[in-house]
Amino acid sequence: MGHDVNTINRRTFLALSAASAALAGCTTRKDIHVGIIGGGIIGASIAYHLAKEGAKVTLFERHELATRASRGTFAWINASWAKQPRHYHRFSQEGVAGWKRLQSELGLDIRWEGSYEWFSNPGRQERLADQIAEQADWDEPASMISATEFTKREPNVHYDATERMALSGNDGAIDPVAVTKALISKAVSLGATLKTHCEVRAANPRGNGTVRLSTNCGDIDIDRYVLATGADPEATMKLAGRHIPQRSTPGVIVITKPVRPLIRGIIVAPGVHIHQRNDGRIVLGEQGGAPDSTAHRQRLAGMPNRFPNDDFAHQHANRILAIAEQFVSDISGADIEDVYIGWRPLPLDGHPVLGPTEARPESYLAIMHSGVTLAPIVGEIVARELVTGKSVDALALYRPDRDFEQTKRY
Ligand SMILES: Cc1cc2nc3c(=O)[nH]c(=O)nc-3n(C[C@H](O)[C@H](O)[C@H](O)COP(=O)(O)OP(=O)(O)OC[C@H]3O[C@@H](n4cnc5c(N)ncnc54)[C@H](O)[C@@H]3O)c2cc1C
Repeated sequence: MGHDVNTINRRTFLALSAASAALAGCTTRKDIHVGIIGGGIIGASIAYHLAKEGAKVTLFERHELATRASRGTFAWINASWAKQPRHYHRFSQEGVAGWKRLQSELGLDIRWEGSYEWFSNPGRQERLADQIAEQADWDEPASMISATEFTKREPNVHYDATERMALSGNDGAIDPVAVTKALISKAVSLGATLKTHCEVRAANPRGNGTVRLSTNCGDIDIDRYVLATGADPEATMKLAGRHIPQRSTPGVIVITKPVRPLIRGIIVAPGVHIHQRNDGRIVLGEQGGAPDSTAHRQRLAGMPNRFPNDDFAHQHANRILAIAEQFVSDISGADIEDVYIGWRPLPLDGHPVLGPTEARPESYLAIMHSGVTLAPIVGEIVARELVTGKSVDALALYRPDRDFEQTKRY
Protein backbone atom coordinates (compact mmCIF):
# COMPACT_ATOMS: atom_id res chain seq x y z
CA MET A 1 0.00 0.00 0.00
CA GLY A 2 1.55 3.40 0.60
CA HIS A 3 -0.18 6.71 1.05
CA ASP A 4 1.11 9.94 -0.36
CA VAL A 5 2.43 11.57 2.80
CA ASN A 6 2.59 14.89 0.96
CA THR A 7 -1.17 15.11 0.69
CA ILE A 8 -2.69 13.40 3.72
CA ASN A 9 -4.61 15.58 6.11
CA ARG A 10 -2.83 16.31 9.37
CA ARG A 11 -5.70 14.91 11.43
CA THR A 12 -5.45 11.57 9.67
CA PHE A 13 -1.67 11.33 9.95
CA LEU A 14 -1.48 9.32 13.13
CA ALA A 15 -4.65 7.39 12.40
CA LEU A 16 -3.15 6.23 9.10
CA SER A 17 0.11 5.41 10.79
CA ALA A 18 -1.68 3.18 13.25
CA ALA A 19 -3.94 1.70 10.59
CA SER A 20 -1.05 0.72 8.31
CA ALA A 21 0.26 -1.52 11.04
CA ALA A 22 -3.14 -2.84 12.08
CA LEU A 23 -4.35 -3.56 8.54
CA ALA A 24 -1.31 -5.67 7.90
CA GLY A 25 -2.71 -8.06 10.49
CA CYS A 26 0.32 -7.76 12.69
CA THR A 27 0.78 -9.26 16.07
CA THR A 28 2.68 -7.22 18.61
CA ARG A 29 5.96 -8.38 20.11
CA LYS A 30 5.81 -7.05 23.63
CA ASP A 31 8.51 -9.52 24.68
CA ILE A 32 11.00 -7.96 22.26
CA HIS A 33 14.31 -6.82 23.81
CA VAL A 34 15.59 -3.63 22.18
CA GLY A 35 19.07 -2.21 22.73
CA ILE A 36 19.16 1.55 22.26
CA ILE A 37 22.58 3.03 21.49
CA GLY A 38 22.70 6.71 22.46
CA GLY A 39 21.32 8.57 25.46
CA GLY A 40 20.36 11.85 23.81
CA ILE A 41 16.80 13.08 23.50
CA ILE A 42 16.02 10.70 20.61
CA GLY A 43 17.27 7.55 22.35
CA ALA A 44 15.49 8.69 25.52
CA SER A 45 12.16 9.20 23.78
CA ILE A 46 12.38 5.83 22.01
CA ALA A 47 13.28 4.16 25.31
CA TYR A 48 10.30 5.75 27.06
CA HIS A 49 7.80 4.85 24.32
CA LEU A 50 9.10 1.28 24.04
CA ALA A 51 8.96 0.79 27.81
CA LYS A 52 5.42 2.18 27.80
CA GLU A 53 4.50 -0.47 25.20
CA GLY A 54 5.85 -3.12 27.58
CA ALA A 55 9.01 -3.95 25.59
CA LYS A 56 12.26 -4.85 27.32
CA VAL A 57 14.73 -1.98 26.84
CA THR A 58 18.45 -1.53 27.52
CA LEU A 59 19.92 1.89 26.74
CA PHE A 60 23.68 2.35 26.29
CA GLU A 61 25.34 5.75 26.53
CA ARG A 62 29.10 6.12 26.20
CA HIS A 63 29.19 9.28 28.34
CA GLU A 64 26.40 10.70 30.54
CA LEU A 65 22.84 11.30 29.33
CA ALA A 66 22.42 14.29 26.98
CA THR A 67 26.06 15.18 26.53
CA ARG A 68 26.23 15.78 22.75
CA ALA A 69 23.66 17.53 20.49
CA SER A 70 20.97 17.17 23.14
CA ARG A 71 23.00 19.41 25.41
CA GLY A 72 24.39 21.84 22.82
CA THR A 73 21.00 22.63 21.32
CA PHE A 74 18.81 25.72 21.30
CA ALA A 75 15.84 23.41 22.06
CA TRP A 76 13.16 25.33 20.17
CA ILE A 77 10.07 23.21 19.49
CA ASN A 78 8.66 24.35 16.17
CA ALA A 79 7.18 23.58 12.78
CA SER A 80 8.59 26.74 11.20
CA TRP A 81 8.78 27.82 7.54
CA ALA A 82 12.22 26.20 7.32
CA LYS A 83 10.69 22.73 7.70
CA GLN A 84 10.28 21.92 4.00
CA PRO A 85 8.63 20.39 2.06
CA ARG A 86 5.09 19.81 3.24
CA HIS A 87 5.56 16.21 4.48
CA TYR A 88 8.46 17.23 6.71
CA HIS A 89 6.55 20.25 7.95
CA ARG A 90 3.63 17.99 8.87
CA PHE A 91 5.97 15.58 10.64
CA SER A 92 7.32 18.55 12.63
CA GLN A 93 3.76 19.61 13.50
CA GLU A 94 3.22 16.13 14.88
CA GLY A 95 6.39 16.61 16.92
CA VAL A 96 5.02 19.83 18.42
CA ALA A 97 1.67 18.15 19.19
CA GLY A 98 3.56 15.22 20.71
CA TRP A 99 5.19 17.53 23.28
CA LYS A 100 1.73 18.56 24.53
CA ARG A 101 0.94 14.87 25.01
CA LEU A 102 4.25 14.17 26.76
CA GLN A 103 3.84 17.25 28.92
CA SER A 104 0.62 15.92 30.35
CA GLU A 105 1.92 12.32 30.58
CA LEU A 106 5.14 13.23 32.37
CA GLY A 107 4.50 16.67 33.87
CA LEU A 108 7.35 18.22 31.85
CA ASP A 109 8.36 21.87 32.17
CA ILE A 110 7.77 23.31 28.67
CA ARG A 111 7.52 27.01 27.95
CA TRP A 112 4.80 27.60 25.33
CA GLU A 113 5.03 31.30 24.52
CA GLY A 114 5.48 31.23 20.73
CA SER A 115 8.37 32.66 18.70
CA TYR A 116 9.08 36.01 17.06
CA GLU A 117 11.28 36.33 14.02
CA TRP A 118 12.48 39.14 11.78
CA PHE A 119 15.38 40.03 9.48
CA SER A 120 17.28 43.27 9.03
CA ASN A 121 17.45 42.85 5.24
CA PRO A 122 14.27 44.24 3.58
CA GLY A 123 14.26 41.65 0.76
CA ARG A 124 14.59 38.81 3.25
CA GLN A 125 11.88 40.36 5.40
CA GLU A 126 9.51 40.37 2.39
CA ARG A 127 10.24 36.70 1.76
CA LEU A 128 9.51 36.00 5.45
CA ALA A 129 6.03 37.45 5.00
CA ASP A 130 5.43 35.00 2.09
CA GLN A 131 6.78 32.14 4.18
CA ILE A 132 4.42 33.05 7.02
CA ALA A 133 1.49 33.11 4.59
CA GLU A 134 2.45 29.56 3.62
CA GLN A 135 2.60 28.63 7.30
CA ALA A 136 -0.95 29.85 7.78
CA ASP A 137 -2.03 27.72 4.76
CA TRP A 138 -0.36 24.78 6.46
CA ASP A 139 -2.47 25.04 9.63
CA GLU A 140 0.05 26.97 11.72
CA PRO A 141 -1.21 29.84 13.91
CA ALA A 142 1.43 32.13 12.35
CA SER A 143 1.03 35.75 11.27
CA MET A 144 2.96 38.96 10.73
CA ILE A 145 2.34 41.34 13.63
CA SER A 146 3.19 45.02 13.96
CA ALA A 147 6.18 46.20 15.95
CA THR A 148 3.75 47.94 18.31
CA GLU A 149 1.96 44.65 18.98
CA PHE A 150 5.34 42.97 19.48
CA THR A 151 6.38 45.59 22.05
CA LYS A 152 3.15 45.00 23.97
CA ARG A 153 4.01 41.29 24.17
CA GLU A 154 7.77 41.65 24.71
CA PRO A 155 8.37 45.04 26.34
CA ASN A 156 12.04 44.26 27.13
CA VAL A 157 12.99 43.38 23.56
CA HIS A 158 14.17 46.05 21.10
CA TYR A 159 14.18 45.66 17.36
CA ASP A 160 15.97 47.59 14.62
CA ALA A 161 14.12 49.30 11.77
CA THR A 162 11.70 46.39 11.39
CA GLU A 163 8.01 47.28 11.23
CA ARG A 164 6.58 43.78 11.25
CA MET A 165 7.66 40.49 12.75
CA ALA A 166 6.52 36.90 12.36
CA LEU A 167 4.68 35.42 15.32
CA SER A 168 4.46 31.61 15.42
CA GLY A 169 2.06 31.00 18.26
CA ASN A 170 2.50 27.25 18.64
CA ASP A 171 6.20 27.22 19.42
CA GLY A 172 7.79 26.27 22.71
CA ALA A 173 11.13 25.50 24.32
CA ILE A 174 12.50 23.01 26.82
CA ASP A 175 15.56 22.39 28.94
CA PRO A 176 16.77 19.45 26.83
CA VAL A 177 19.02 17.90 29.47
CA ALA A 178 16.26 17.90 32.10
CA VAL A 179 13.72 16.50 29.64
CA THR A 180 16.07 13.75 28.40
CA LYS A 181 16.62 12.72 32.02
CA ALA A 182 12.87 12.81 32.73
CA LEU A 183 12.15 10.51 29.76
CA ILE A 184 14.82 8.05 30.86
CA SER A 185 13.74 8.17 34.45
CA LYS A 186 10.19 7.26 33.42
CA ALA A 187 11.48 4.51 31.11
CA VAL A 188 13.52 3.07 33.99
CA SER A 189 10.50 3.19 36.29
CA LEU A 190 8.69 1.15 33.61
CA GLY A 191 11.47 -1.47 33.64
CA ALA A 192 14.14 -0.19 31.22
CA THR A 193 17.83 -0.65 32.06
CA LEU A 194 20.22 2.29 31.71
CA LYS A 195 23.94 1.77 31.16
CA THR A 196 25.98 4.97 31.11
CA HIS A 197 29.72 5.11 30.39
CA CYS A 198 29.04 2.08 28.28
CA GLU A 199 30.06 2.23 24.62
CA VAL A 200 28.69 -0.22 22.06
CA ARG A 201 31.63 -1.30 19.89
CA ALA A 202 30.17 -4.07 17.75
CA ALA A 203 26.82 -5.60 16.84
CA ASN A 204 27.08 -9.19 15.61
CA PRO A 205 24.12 -11.36 14.58
CA ARG A 206 24.24 -14.70 16.36
CA GLY A 207 22.30 -16.77 13.81
CA ASN A 208 19.38 -17.48 16.17
CA GLY A 209 17.63 -14.17 15.46
CA THR A 210 19.39 -12.28 18.24
CA VAL A 211 22.28 -9.84 18.01
CA ARG A 212 25.22 -9.61 20.39
CA LEU A 213 26.14 -6.06 21.34
CA SER A 214 29.74 -5.91 22.51
CA THR A 215 30.45 -3.07 24.89
CA ASN A 216 33.10 -1.95 27.34
CA CYS A 217 30.69 -2.97 30.10
CA GLY A 218 30.10 -6.50 28.86
CA ASP A 219 28.24 -8.30 26.06
CA ILE A 220 24.48 -8.42 25.84
CA ASP A 221 22.13 -10.25 23.46
CA ILE A 222 19.11 -8.38 22.16
CA ASP A 223 16.48 -8.81 19.41
CA ARG A 224 16.74 -5.39 17.73
CA TYR A 225 19.01 -2.40 18.25
CA VAL A 226 18.44 1.30 17.63
CA LEU A 227 21.24 3.65 16.61
CA ALA A 228 20.34 6.99 18.14
CA THR A 229 23.99 7.95 17.87
CA GLY A 230 23.54 11.52 16.56
CA ALA A 231 26.31 13.20 14.60
CA ASP A 232 28.83 10.36 15.03
CA PRO A 233 30.01 9.91 11.41
CA GLU A 234 31.20 6.32 11.81
CA ALA A 235 28.54 4.68 13.95
CA THR A 236 26.07 3.72 11.23
CA MET A 237 28.64 2.07 8.94
CA LYS A 238 30.31 0.28 11.82
CA LEU A 239 27.16 -0.93 13.57
CA ALA A 240 24.59 -1.17 10.76
CA GLY A 241 26.60 -1.52 7.51
CA ARG A 242 25.31 1.71 5.95
CA HIS A 243 27.09 5.03 5.62
CA ILE A 244 24.66 7.90 6.20
CA PRO A 245 26.09 11.04 4.61
CA GLN A 246 25.89 13.87 7.13
CA ARG A 247 26.82 17.53 6.87
CA SER A 248 27.09 18.10 10.61
CA THR A 249 27.62 21.74 11.47
CA PRO A 250 28.65 23.24 14.81
CA GLY A 251 26.72 25.86 16.75
CA VAL A 252 27.68 27.62 19.97
CA ILE A 253 25.12 27.64 22.79
CA VAL A 254 25.56 30.04 25.71
CA ILE A 255 23.55 29.70 28.92
CA THR A 256 23.49 32.46 31.52
CA LYS A 257 22.83 32.15 35.23
CA PRO A 258 19.22 32.98 36.18
CA VAL A 259 18.18 36.62 35.71
CA ARG A 260 14.86 38.35 36.35
CA PRO A 261 12.06 37.61 33.84
CA LEU A 262 12.94 39.49 30.63
CA ILE A 263 11.55 37.51 27.70
CA ARG A 264 8.38 35.47 27.29
CA GLY A 265 8.76 33.90 23.85
CA ILE A 266 11.58 32.76 21.60
CA ILE A 267 13.34 35.66 19.90
CA VAL A 268 14.77 34.81 16.47
CA ALA A 269 16.60 38.06 15.81
CA PRO A 270 19.23 38.84 13.18
CA GLY A 271 22.41 37.00 14.23
CA VAL A 272 21.14 35.36 17.41
CA HIS A 273 18.37 33.17 18.85
CA ILE A 274 17.32 33.97 22.44
CA HIS A 275 14.92 32.42 24.92
CA GLN A 276 14.50 32.40 28.68
CA ARG A 277 13.71 29.30 30.67
CA ASN A 278 11.20 29.24 33.48
CA ASP A 279 14.12 29.03 35.92
CA GLY A 280 15.37 32.43 34.65
CA ARG A 281 18.34 31.15 32.63
CA ILE A 282 18.77 32.76 29.23
CA VAL A 283 19.78 30.56 26.31
CA LEU A 284 21.58 32.10 23.34
CA GLY A 285 22.15 30.31 20.06
CA GLU A 286 24.69 31.58 17.59
CA GLN A 287 23.27 32.12 14.11
CA GLY A 288 26.39 32.29 11.93
CA GLY A 289 28.76 29.32 11.77
CA ALA A 290 32.52 29.28 12.32
CA PRO A 291 34.64 31.17 9.78
CA ASP A 292 35.92 28.87 7.03
CA SER A 293 39.67 29.00 7.74
CA THR A 294 42.32 26.29 7.98
CA ALA A 295 42.85 27.05 11.68
CA HIS A 296 39.15 26.59 12.42
CA ARG A 297 38.91 23.45 10.31
CA GLN A 298 41.82 21.93 12.25
CA ARG A 299 40.36 22.91 15.62
CA LEU A 300 36.95 21.52 14.76
CA ALA A 301 38.13 18.29 13.10
CA GLY A 302 37.38 16.10 16.12
CA MET A 303 33.92 17.69 16.64
CA PRO A 304 34.80 19.07 20.10
CA ASN A 305 32.05 20.21 22.48
CA ARG A 306 34.39 22.57 24.34
CA PHE A 307 36.69 25.42 23.34
CA PRO A 308 40.41 24.76 23.85
CA ASN A 309 40.36 26.81 27.09
CA ASP A 310 38.11 28.99 29.27
CA ASP A 311 39.45 32.24 27.79
CA PHE A 312 38.40 31.23 24.28
CA ALA A 313 35.03 30.05 25.58
CA HIS A 314 34.39 33.37 27.31
CA GLN A 315 35.51 35.39 24.30
CA HIS A 316 32.94 33.56 22.18
CA ALA A 317 30.25 33.82 24.84
CA ASN A 318 30.82 37.57 25.19
CA ARG A 319 30.69 38.01 21.41
CA ILE A 320 27.29 36.26 21.28
CA LEU A 321 26.07 38.08 24.38
CA ALA A 322 26.97 41.40 22.73
CA ILE A 323 24.77 40.55 19.72
CA ALA A 324 21.92 39.61 22.06
CA GLU A 325 22.31 42.85 24.02
CA GLN A 326 21.34 44.81 20.90
CA PHE A 327 17.88 43.29 21.31
CA VAL A 328 17.62 42.70 25.07
CA SER A 329 19.81 45.33 26.69
CA ASP A 330 19.00 44.10 30.21
CA ILE A 331 20.96 40.91 29.48
CA SER A 332 24.06 43.04 29.83
CA GLY A 333 26.15 41.85 32.77
CA ALA A 334 24.44 38.44 33.01
CA ASP A 335 26.84 35.82 34.36
CA ILE A 336 27.70 33.04 31.95
CA GLU A 337 27.07 29.54 33.27
CA ASP A 338 27.93 27.37 30.27
CA VAL A 339 29.39 27.65 26.78
CA TYR A 340 28.97 24.56 24.66
CA ILE A 341 29.61 23.64 21.02
CA GLY A 342 26.79 21.46 19.69
CA TRP A 343 27.07 19.40 16.49
CA ARG A 344 23.93 19.01 14.46
CA PRO A 345 23.22 15.43 13.38
CA LEU A 346 22.35 16.56 9.86
CA PRO A 347 21.66 13.97 7.16
CA LEU A 348 22.64 15.47 3.81
CA ASP A 349 19.07 16.08 2.63
CA GLY A 350 18.06 17.63 5.96
CA HIS A 351 15.46 14.96 6.76
CA PRO A 352 15.39 12.28 9.46
CA VAL A 353 16.81 8.83 8.90
CA LEU A 354 14.48 6.26 10.43
CA GLY A 355 14.36 2.50 9.97
CA PRO A 356 16.50 -0.61 9.51
CA THR A 357 19.27 -0.81 6.91
CA GLU A 358 19.12 -3.40 4.15
CA ALA A 359 22.51 -4.67 5.24
CA ARG A 360 21.39 -5.22 8.85
CA PRO A 361 17.64 -5.80 9.21
CA GLU A 362 17.95 -6.10 13.01
CA SER A 363 19.21 -2.52 13.16
CA TYR A 364 17.06 0.60 13.36
CA LEU A 365 18.59 4.01 12.61
CA ALA A 366 17.18 7.13 14.28
CA ILE A 367 19.36 10.06 13.25
CA MET A 368 18.11 13.57 12.62
CA HIS A 369 18.39 17.29 12.99
CA SER A 370 15.51 19.10 14.74
CA GLY A 371 15.46 16.14 17.06
CA VAL A 372 14.18 18.23 19.94
CA THR A 373 11.03 19.05 17.97
CA LEU A 374 10.68 15.53 16.59
CA ALA A 375 11.53 13.42 19.66
CA PRO A 376 7.92 12.67 20.73
CA ILE A 377 6.58 11.60 17.33
CA VAL A 378 9.76 9.70 16.51
CA GLY A 379 9.67 7.89 19.85
CA GLU A 380 6.02 6.98 19.38
CA ILE A 381 6.29 5.68 15.81
CA VAL A 382 9.65 3.93 16.19
CA ALA A 383 8.35 2.09 19.26
CA ARG A 384 5.25 1.07 17.28
CA GLU A 385 7.32 -0.23 14.36
CA LEU A 386 9.62 -2.21 16.63
CA VAL A 387 6.85 -3.71 18.73
CA THR A 388 4.52 -4.56 15.84
CA GLY A 389 7.27 -5.45 13.36
CA LYS A 390 5.31 -3.56 10.69
CA SER A 391 6.25 -0.46 8.73
CA VAL A 392 4.40 2.76 9.36
CA ASP A 393 3.73 4.67 6.13
CA ALA A 394 4.46 8.06 7.72
CA LEU A 395 8.16 7.15 7.70
CA ALA A 396 8.29 6.02 4.05
CA LEU A 397 10.31 9.04 2.89
CA TYR A 398 12.80 8.82 5.74
CA ARG A 399 14.25 5.35 5.28
CA PRO A 400 18.03 4.86 5.53
CA ASP A 401 18.46 3.30 2.09
CA ARG A 402 17.18 6.30 0.14
CA ASP A 403 19.42 8.42 -2.11
CA PHE A 404 20.65 11.46 -0.21
CA GLU A 405 20.74 14.67 -2.17
CA GLN A 406 22.47 17.61 -0.59
CA THR A 407 20.13 20.36 0.57
CA LYS A 408 21.73 23.35 2.23
CA ARG A 409 19.79 24.09 5.39
CA TYR A 410 20.94 25.22 8.82
C1 LIG B 1 23.55 24.29 17.89
C2 LIG B 1 22.32 23.42 17.73
C3 LIG B 1 21.06 23.99 17.80
C4 LIG B 1 19.92 23.20 17.64
N1 LIG B 1 18.70 23.76 17.78
C5 LIG B 1 17.60 22.98 17.69
C6 LIG B 1 16.33 23.55 17.93
O1 LIG B 1 16.20 24.72 18.28
N2 LIG B 1 15.24 22.73 17.80
C7 LIG B 1 15.36 21.40 17.45
O2 LIG B 1 14.34 20.72 17.31
N3 LIG B 1 16.57 20.84 17.24
C8 LIG B 1 17.68 21.60 17.35
N4 LIG B 1 18.91 21.05 17.16
C9 LIG B 1 19.01 19.63 16.79
C10 LIG B 1 18.79 18.72 17.98
O3 LIG B 1 19.48 19.22 19.09
C11 LIG B 1 19.29 17.32 17.64
O4 LIG B 1 18.61 16.87 16.48
C12 LIG B 1 19.03 16.33 18.77
O5 LIG B 1 19.59 16.79 19.98
C13 LIG B 1 19.63 14.99 18.41
O6 LIG B 1 19.48 14.13 19.50
P1 LIG B 1 20.11 12.68 19.45
O7 LIG B 1 19.66 11.99 20.65
O8 LIG B 1 19.82 12.07 18.12
O9 LIG B 1 21.69 12.94 19.40
P2 LIG B 1 22.72 13.24 20.59
O10 LIG B 1 22.14 14.13 21.59
O11 LIG B 1 23.99 13.69 19.93
O12 LIG B 1 22.91 11.85 21.27
C14 LIG B 1 23.64 10.80 20.68
C15 LIG B 1 24.28 10.03 21.81
O13 LIG B 1 24.80 8.81 21.33
C16 LIG B 1 25.94 8.51 22.11
N5 LIG B 1 26.69 7.48 21.38
C17 LIG B 1 27.17 7.58 20.11
N6 LIG B 1 27.77 6.42 19.76
C18 LIG B 1 27.67 5.58 20.83
C19 LIG B 1 28.08 4.23 21.09
N7 LIG B 1 28.74 3.53 20.16
N8 LIG B 1 27.79 3.68 22.29
C20 LIG B 1 27.11 4.39 23.23
N9 LIG B 1 26.71 5.67 23.04
C21 LIG B 1 26.98 6.24 21.86
C22 LIG B 1 26.64 9.85 22.23
O14 LIG B 1 27.54 9.89 23.32
C23 LIG B 1 25.45 10.79 22.43
O15 LIG B 1 25.17 11.04 23.79
C24 LIG B 1 20.06 21.81 17.36
C25 LIG B 1 21.34 21.23 17.32
C26 LIG B 1 22.45 22.03 17.52
C27 LIG B 1 23.80 21.38 17.51
